Amino acid sequence: MSVFGLSAFADHEQVVHTWDRATGLRAIIAVHSTVRGPAIGGLRIRRYDDEQAALTDVLRLSEGMTFKAAVAGVPFGGGKMVVIADPQRDKTPALLHAAGLAIERLGGRYVTGEDVGSTVADMAELLSVTSYVMGAPEEAGGSGDPSPSTALGCFCGITAAVRHRLGRPDVSGLRVAVQGLGNVGWNLCQLLAEGGAELVVSDVRGNLVAAAEREFGAAGVEPDAIYGAKADVFAPCALGAVVNDDTLPLLTAPVIAGGANNQLADEERHGQLLRDRGVLYAPDYVINAGGMIQFAVERIAAGPGLDWDEVDRRVRGIGATLSDIFEQADQSGIPTTAAAREIARQRLTRQPA
Ligand code: NAD
Repeated sequence: MSVFGLSAFADHEQVVHTWDRATGLRAIIAVHSTVRGPAIGGLRIRRYDDEQAALTDVLRLSEGMTFKAAVAGVPFGGGKMVVIADPQRDKTPALLHAAGLAIERLGGRYVTGEDVGSTVADMAELLSVTSYVMGAPEEAGGSGDPSPSTALGCFCGITAAVRHRLGRPDVSGLRVAVQGLGNVGWNLCQLLAEGGAELVVSDVRGNLVAAAEREFGAAGVEPDAIYGAKADVFAPCALGAVVNDDTLPLLTAPVIAGGANNQLADEERHGQLLRDRGVLYAPDYVINAGGMIQFAVERIAAGPGLDWDEVDRRVRGIGATLSDIFEQADQSGIPTTAAAREIARQRLTRQPA
């Protein structure tokens, strides 16, 4: 396997492979950029088909975090850690401690958080060996579950998008199709319902759909029917790659804005196709940055106790950031995905304020 030959390796400052005989830990930490500050990004614990797949994943994700942090305007860079293990079977305190020691050895160049396969409780476990951790439970001095902040950012992003595309002041009276009623989707539905939106929802877990019908007066539809549901906004909050060649012809909403990661199957091609069709797309890593912003404020905090007003203020700023991206995309006649990348690139060439 040639690391230097991988296109995903390009521009990475540092990639560390770590192995611990006693616990069987096999992990990779990728530090993509510390230009704007320490590299932040979650700890992913996953069974990978092979090492190459793990390496490609960590490199791609750490680069994504650099862009996400830069556009969000927080003084951090991008990194990621993957542990090649089955989170159900292999995740033990000893394995987490070994992972934590690997983070500690980087001396703060990389700060970890929760991701697929790791939990808020795991962050507390890591704290026993390293302080370079975000998102531990509040009783352990962290800021806890990031999902409510992610949902708030999405709500502000949706509001900015309907202003720009539909000339509406807010979501009141609009129909929003929310795909996925998990941590982010549920909190988002709550905010949308409070804001007077009409909801169409889907989830593979029927009990959540029934609960949303009761709680928010939402109209539940079968998972695949959400794409064709008549709506002003489509808010993907479940899976990646849901905007693809099969679903694009079905979508009716003039706005796509939701919390899921990697919503476009092909960022460049589908970003352009959406622009050509007059659909306004809120780039996922911009609109779903609320949780990361919460972690960034936690990390910046000098003393104990989180300044939730500061989190709220910064997360709500996602709306203004997206408005800028929409304006720039229109002025230059480019997809919103390209406009967001351009803003990130500009910010990476200078230090944060
Ligand atoms: P979650 O696992 O709590 O919720 C996902 C929900 O989607 C589940 O209820 C699941 O049943 C449902 N789902 C799965 N397949 C579906 C399908 N085909 N159709 C409809 N629903 C389906 O996850 P989450 O924390 O709410 O995150 C949702 C998305 O947002 C993910 O893509 C995640 O990477 C992204 N994200 C989350 C955060 C956060 O703070 N939690 C931050 C940034 C990005």
